[in-house]
Amino acid sequence: MSRRCARPGCGQPADTTLSYDYAQRLVWLDDLHLDKSPANHDLCRRHADRTQPPKGWELRDRRSAAQTAVALTFAS
Ligand SMILES: [Zn+2]
Repeated sequence: MSRRCARPGCGQPADTTLSYDYAQRLVWLDDLHLDKSPANHDLCRRHADRTQPPKGWELRDRRSAAQTAVALTFAS
């Protein structure tokens, strides 16, 4: 059972789950949730990295892979 990116026309395997909290104006990127919720969106790595929060919202990237990417950026 594979999970696919929710972006139209993409179809890449999803490795990130995007979720929202409208009350707090927060957007989260997490490692792919085990439970698929209709309130969340599964995204591939490329589309997850391109995610921009709506104006006035805050994006919090909680993915373990993102932390690795940051560490690699600082090391190079
Ligand atoms: Zn995608």
